[in-house]
Amino acid sequence: MADQAPNSSSSAALEFGIEGDEEFIHGAASGWVEARTSCDHLGSLSTDLLHIPTPDTPCNRCDHPSENWLCLCCKGVLCSRFVNKHMLQHYQQSNHSLALSFSDLSVWCFACDAYLDAQVISQLRPVHETAYILKFSEPPPFRTMEMQTIGENP
Ligand SMILES: [Zn+2]
Ligand SMILES: [Zn+2]
Ligand SMILES: [Zn+2]
Repeated sequence: MADQAPNSSSSAALEFGIEGDEEFIHGAASGWVEARTSCDHLGSLSTDLLHIPTPDTPCNRCDHPSENWLCLCCKGVLCSRFVNKHMLQHYQQSNHSLALSFSDLSVWCFACDAYLDAQVISQLRPVHETAYILKFSEPPPFRTMEMQTIGENP
């Protein structure tokens, strides 16, 4: 028992380390925590999402120049609820619920009222990649496949 008694400084360091790790994990994951990995509204996606407007396309209705949304059902480009709400109005008028943000390339479903994880949902991955390439001129980094083991099995 006697040699189990740690000095106070090492136990404090351990506590600090665990706390730091939790904070790191939470922080790293928080950008994706609210994104859903399924959605019942993917049937309304446009059948040609390989050809989409460029991320600097202005709002089709008010010409707002940047940070617009792309309707993934009809490929209209419309401004956010923080500008003139044209994407929101488009959803209310046409029931097109899936939109991709040209500012951060997140995908929002109005019907689910949630972000969708475009790199997990296979129907969304191609258009997310296309938009990423249009915006950054390079393909997105792989996020999901790195856990596969290669050459470890006998
Ligand atoms: Zn607008
Ligand atoms: Zn639309
Ligand atoms: Zn949905």
